[in-house]
Amino acid sequence: MNAMWSEARARVSHRLATHLSVEPFRLLNETPMVSFTFDDIPKSAATTGARLLEDHDARGTFYISGGLVGTETSDWTAVDGQDIIDLHRNGHEIGCHTFSHARACDLDAEALAAEIAGNRSYLRTLDASIKLKNFAYPFGYGSFGRKGQLKQAFQSCRSIVPGVNSGTVDLQFLRAMPLIEHGIDRDEIERAYDQAQIHNGWLIFYTHDVANRPSAYGCSPDLMSHALEAAAKRNIPVLNMAEALLCAGV
Ligand SMILES: [Zn+2]
Repeated sequence: MNAMWSEARARVSHRLATHLSVEPFRLLNETPMVSFTFDDIPKSAATTGARLLEDHDARGTFYISGGLVGTETSDWTAVDGQDIIDLHRNGHEIGCHTFSHARACDLDAEALAAEIAGNRSYLRTLDASIKLKNFAYPFGYGSFGRKGQLKQAFQSCRSIVPGVNSGTVDLQFLRAMPLIEHGIDRDEIERAYDQAQIHNGWLIFYTHDVANRPSAYGCSPDLMSHALEAAAKRNIPVLNMAEALLCAGV
């Protein structure tokens, strides 16, 4: 199959996943909420990012691809096993990406099941009490065909389609805002919180590295601190995905 056809198929699958819900769910949170999530993940997310959350007495969700652990790219150095154990023992949530970071829309049912099983067993070897309850789509690409399967395996799946979640949502395609240095500014962060307050919504941020000179996919500690302080000023609780889902009645 040629690459163009495969990309066209991926786009269609993503579009369908964006608009067609497996089973709509009504969020029952009593107050607006915000979650900070990190994908892949760079070591700076597990150190600087986690520390900033802990300074605000909050915890985050870190979506791990086991296959990326210990790797190094031009963008960042990834976490090692001990970083993941430390996150887990400090009360952060370990979430699931695919093991190899393959997009869900490129995998058939068997291949996706193998990716999830591989990630689960890798993380279990680090600490047997790590349970993966929530998933994030690698590269943000949803898969219409795999949504039902992901619903069986996880409470929620996070996309990178922007928006604030409120009212009736698709738990297998939660919206998220970029906490990315060149993708959002302070005013846009404030507007996202405005939306959360107007609609009693759940604002989910996603990012990667947290560094003074972040990659094109990450943010500075300053921007993350701004987002955390904005939540504190508005009295909006910062909850990881598992905690927020509990408050939403899932
Ligand atoms: Zn990713």
